[in-house]
Amino acid sequence: MKAHRNTCAVCSRPIGIAYLMCATHWHLVPRDLATSVYRTYGAMARKGATPQEQLQRIAAYRAARDAAVAHVKAQIDQPQGARP
Ligand SMILES: [Zn+2]
Repeated sequence: MKAHRNTCAVCSRPIGIAYLMCATHWHLVPRDLATSVYRTYGAMARKGATPQEQLQRIAAYRAARDAAVAHVKAQIDQPQGARP
């Protein structure tokens, strides 16, 4: 079993259960991506969905989350201001 309940999606630092990344990496997520993560996460928690709708909401959240994580990882690989 894992020692921590939740870790940063980028650096594996332990974080709160409600967070996707540590503060350092979440700060690198553009506002539009962060907004879609919040929106899809909120939609997932909302009740009254059919099982199919719930699956679609989970898929939407995962897509938003993956996009945010991919964006941060790309920024780490190519730091701003360090052009070849
Ligand atoms: Zn991190």
